Amino acid sequence: EPLAVGVELAFRMVYLLILGWALHRLWRQRPGVLPALAGMLPFALIALLELAGSRLLIEYRVEVIQLAVTWFLAVSAYALNLRLGRLRRQRDEMQQLAETDPLTGLPNRRAGLRRLGEMFAVAREDGTALSVAFIDIDHFKAINDDHGHEAGDRVLVAVAQALRATVRGASEAARMGGEEFLMLLPGVAADSAVQRMHALRVRLAATARELGLEGLSLTASIGVATLRDGDADAAALLRRADQAMYAAKRGGRDQVQLAG
Ligand code: GH3
Ligand code: MG
Ligand code: MG
Repeated sequence: EPLAVGVELAFRMVYLLILGWALHRLWRQRPGVLPALAGMLPFALIALLELAGSRLLIEYRVEVIQLAVTWFLAVSAYALNLRLGRLRRQRDEMQQLAETDPLTGLPNRRAGLRRLGEMFAVAREDGTALSVAFIDIDHFKAINDDHGHEAGDRVLVAVAQALRATVRGASEAARMGGEEFLMLLPGVAADSAVQRMHALRVRLAATARELGLEGLSLTASIGVATLRDGDADAAALLRRADQAMYAAKRGGRDQVQLAG
């Protein structure tokens, strides 16, 4: 019958295509060779049976081919799933890299702003408190000038460590750039946030002593803002914290200012 001959021809072509693809992968030593070979296995067996003139193949041709195709599809699905898992892991690693500050290992500005946006949405939704603290090291340029850029880097790493040590519960720290850091304090009211930033100031003084850089004075100007109804978005909250930080600079540095 012409239909049977057509089906037979189509089957042979598909088989040859899969074989060619598997050999190509094998040749280029690409990953995916094993699943390709495994998926092909029953087709190879069918070819052998055909060459041997097996009665089994003649009697159960359709069932055998169905079984082989099912096997091939199952192996393909498994291989695709493995590859998808690999791609997901790669994507997560890339995102991790893109959101981490290489010097301090803290979340970078992009990550800090993303987390701020998320915390803002939650605080608005649940009506909970949200405080943010903008932390700018005082006269950092002078630290670089007096002790060298490398010592400046060490100071930044130590400040990041002090920030991590200050992190409690759901709070998070980020490096916003240069010598500027952000502390996100969800669920923390203004007075507690200010208290925590005073604790950070004490810790910074201890950090300065531990660094063993002669004559190093390590202080920061810190602006704290707590979410209020008038804050249209996360940026508005951050802006108030930034303004409070500048008020701390104007007030003589080494101090915490609460945004009005
Ligand atoms: P102020 O008290 O007003 O904040 O003065 P400041 O010197 O801290 O502020 P300014 O913005 O003038 O200087 C920041 C300096 O931080 C300038 C820049 O060279 C330095 N800096 C920025 N990023 C890095 C870094 O990754 N490593 C080092 N060592 N220095 C950095
Ligand atoms: Mg600055
Ligand atoms: Mg500064």
